[in-house]
Amino acid sequence: MITFDAALQAVMRQARRQPIGRVSLGESVGCVLSRDIQADRNLPPFHRSTMDGYAMRATDLQQTRTTLMVQGTIRPGVASRARLKAGHCMKIMTGAPLPPGADAVVMVEASGPAGKGRVHLQGPVEKWENVARQGEDIRKGRVVLRRGTVIDAAVNGLLATVGAVSVPVYRPPRVAVLITGEEVVPPGATPRPSEIRDSNSAIIASRLKELPVTLDLLGTSPDNPRALKWLIQQGLKREIVLISGGISMGDYDYVPEVLKKLRARIIVHRVAIKPGRPFLFARGPKGQYVFGLPGNPVSVLVCMEEFVIPALRKILGYEACVPKVWRAILTAPYSKPADRMHFALARLWWRQERLYATPVVSHGSGDLVSATRANGVILVPRRERKLAKGGLVRAHFFGGRGLSSALQKTS
Ligand code: AMP
Ligand code: MG
Repeated sequence: MITFDAALQAVMRQARRQPIGRVSLGESVGCVLSRDIQADRNLPPFHRSTMDGYAMRATDLQQTRTTLMVQGTIRPGVASRARLKAGHCMKIMTGAPLPPGADAVVMVEASGPAGKGRVHLQGPVEKWENVARQGEDIRKGRVVLRRGTVIDAAVNGLLATVGAVSVPVYRPPRVAVLITGEEVVPPGATPRPSEIRDSNSAIIASRLKELPVTLDLLGTSPDNPRALKWLIQQGLKREIVLISGGISMGDYDYVPEVLKKLRARIIVHRVAIKPGRPFLFARGPKGQYVFGLPGNPVSVLVCMEEFVIPALRKILGYEACVPKVWRAILTAPYSKPADRMHFALARLWWRQERLYATPVVSHGSGDLVSATRANGVILVPRRERKLAKGGLVRAHFFGGRGLSSALQKTS
C-alpha cells in the first residue's frame, strides 16, 4: 500500500491543465485566466471628479477663500465641451468628467452661495485635488490582469470594467458523479430497514460548489458488473468521473475490474490513510480522470478534500492546489497504530492568535453525525502512535466550510 504523499503526488502528476476556451463573464468566477488581459482604455478613462462640488483651476484658489462665477453644471455621463473660462468654475457631480481647463474640484461642503450666479469657495486647494486622473490606475493597452490569475469578485469586476465579457480561461471540466450500492436509495425515498439514503451525492455536490465545474449526477448503479459498466461508460463521456463505493475488498466491489474492462489505467488503489484506505485513481481510455471514493461518507469528505479538490484545482489551472497546513495546539491526546496516516476530524479554533485543534470523537468513517462538528482535520503521520495533549500538530481547515475560520458571530 502506498503512502499518502506518494498517492497525492501520483494524482497531481497526472492532473493537467484543461485546454483553453472562453466563458462568459458570469461563468468565469473561480476559473483561471489563460491569457493576459489588456486595458482597452485608460482607467480612469477621463479626469473624473471624486466629489460633488465645483470644478475649477487650483491657481484661482491659493488663498483661503475666493469667489468665482458658475459657468454651468456637469453631470455624470456627459462630457463638457465648453472650456472653463478664467475666473469661473463649473458645478460638477461625482463621476463626471472635468471640463477642459479645470484641474481641481472644491467639494460642495467647502462652498457657499455668493449671489448673481457666483459661489464662494474655501481653500486652499491643490492641483488635482478630488480628481481621479485619466490613466492613473492603468494606461490603455497595458496588461491589467495576468494569465494565471484566479477570477474572484474583484477580478471579475475588473474584467467587466475593461469589457472582457468573453473571458479566456482554462475550460471548466464536466464532472460525472455516480453512486454504487444496492442498499443506497435517494434522499427523498423512504428506505426499507436494510437500506440507507445516499449522502455522498450531497457531499460531493456541496463540496464542488466552490469550483466552476459542471456537475452531472448520473444516479445509482446496483452492484453488478453489467449495470456498473453501463453507468461508468456514461460517466466517461465527461472529463472527470467520481464514483462512490464499490472499490474495496468486498464480494460486490466491482468498480476496479469494470474500470479495467473499460481499458482504464489504474494508477492508485489503496492508500495507507484513515479514513479513505480503498481510494482509487485511474485514467480512462481517453485520458478521463476517474476517482473511486470509498462509500463511507466521512471517507468521501476526506478524499474530496485531500485528492479530488487539489486535482480539480490543478486541472482548472490553479497554482495553489492543496490545503494550507497550520501548526495547532492539540487539546486532547490522540493515539493510533503506526500503520496508516490519519486524517483525524477536528474542531480548529483560534484564541489569542493561536490555533487549537480538538479531535472530534467519532464512531468511524460512517459517522457523519460527528463529522458535522469538525471544520478540519489533524494530519497524524503514519508512524506516529501517540500525540500528547498540548503538543504541536499539523492541521488544515476543510475548504468550503473555511467560512468557519473567516467569519465570527456578531456580538
Ligand atoms: P462500499 O465502499 O461500497 O463498500 O461502502 C462502504 C459503506 O458506505 C457501506 O456501509 C455503504 O452502505 C456505505 N455507502 C455506500 N455508498 C453510500 C452513499 N452513497 N451514501 C451513504 N453511504 C454509502
Ligand atoms: Mg458498496
